[in-house]
Amino acid sequence: MCDIKTSYLELIGKAIMDFNLSEDEKLIQETIKDLASSKFAARADKIDKESLFPEENIKELAELGMLGTILDPEYGGAGASTITYSVVLEEIAKACASTSVITSVTTMVGLAIQREGTEEQKEKWVTKIATGETLGSFCLTEPTAGSDAGSLKTTATIEGDEVVINGQKLWITNAAHAGIFLVMANENPSLGHKGISAFVVEKDTPGLQVGAPEKKMGLNGSHTCAVFFDNVRIPLENRIGDPGKGFSIALKSLDTGRIGIASQALGIGQAAFEASVNYAKEREQFGKPIHKFQAVSFRIAEMKMKLEAAQLLTRKAAWMRDKGMKHTMESSMAKAFATEVASEVTQNAIKTFGGMGFSKELPIERYHRDIQATLLYEGTNDIQRLVIAKNLFA
Ligand SMILES: Cc1cc2nc3c(=O)[nH]c(=O)nc-3n(C[C@H](O)[C@H](O)[C@H](O)COP(=O)(O)OP(=O)(O)OC[C@H]3O[C@@H](n4cnc5c(N)ncnc54)[C@H](O)[C@@H]3O)c2cc1C
Repeated sequence: MCDIKTSYLELIGKAIMDFNLSEDEKLIQETIKDLASSKFAARADKIDKESLFPEENIKELAELGMLGTILDPEYGGAGASTITYSVVLEEIAKACASTSVITSVTTMVGLAIQREGTEEQKEKWVTKIATGETLGSFCLTEPTAGSDAGSLKTTATIEGDEVVINGQKLWITNAAHAGIFLVMANENPSLGHKGISAFVVEKDTPGLQVGAPEKKMGLNGSHTCAVFFDNVRIPLENRIGDPGKGFSIALKSLDTGRIGIASQALGIGQAAFEASVNYAKEREQFGKPIHKFQAVSFRIAEMKMKLEAAQLLTRKAAWMRDKGMKHTMESSMAKAFATEVASEVTQNAIKTFGGMGFSKELPIERYHRDIQATLLYEGTNDIQRLVIAKNLFA
């Protein structure tokens, strides 16, 4: 007879899934929720309309140690679980999606150096990221290497105990505000992606130039720029991990990064959902609140159902990371599912609000603009399906 409980436990690696937060982690959640819902939400409209970098938000997160939520306490981080990190990003994104992506990307850089770096490199750079002394930017994408990131053309020429970097990166989050650039560059192009290594380039290194922020549809507070490397000379000791391991470092970083993007999407979706529930109770047509019309209440029920499913998928990927389990496929599933659900939810929120959903007076249209980037970055959702299929048929 099939033992359902046993087969389920086998499926999840003989460990009980438990998404509960510790008392300390609950305190983190409550603190962020208070900060984001009071201060970040109040600033979000101006940040979006004037494309302002959310300086105060980032400063306040740094003061609370939340730019290093999952980084090791040894290097200034809070040492919280990935589930807590996911919850934190969700709360931030609910109020200001730009702030959440800035947080997510700098954390990803900190994690990569913490995972792959030498003790000296961790003390030098992870501490700065974890405490918010500076931000990190993750430089992988190039004009001719987006989904096919392994074909990147930026070169790293080794000259004795120095490296000279030449090339161009595109769409780099945090570039205009970062002190630490984690750059994927090829030191042996004849080996293809196996020649790529990861290097830290510090902000004021001669030859490093950051372009003007791209004019985007949304996430206007998160400045995304091209980065140019013109004979950028750095010490060889800035190489993170072994030579030729840069592409694999980037992919491992994305395994965690995608949990962050799924969490961001959940936060945006949740904000659109909560606003829709409130509006459906307040707005009256034909002499009654619009939630009394099944077309409206079913649409909102659908939002709830799908957001809840997306949250479970995201929590599962986070939990697997916390357990040290391989979670590449789960991160991709969470990222693709949560971002698509949230995009549908924000669109349905516009329908629920009618004309007011299209108005710049309310944040509803901003939610829908902001969510679009989550479908694209850290791998488009076509690429997430590619990752899932690759894992299924490996
Ligand atoms: C707001 C924003 C912030 C970003 N921040 C960063 C950052 O900090 N660091 C960084 O390195 N990058 C960043 N990116 C870049 C992002 O990761 C890329 O845009 C993304 O990977 C897609 O690459 P592309 O834009 O070149 O699209 P392309 O790769 O040209 O894709 C175009 C279309 O083809 C599809 N496609 C391509 N290949 C395949 C395939 N094999 N199978 C199926 N479909 C395929 C894609 O899904 C897409 O629909 C950012 C992007 C945005 C929009």
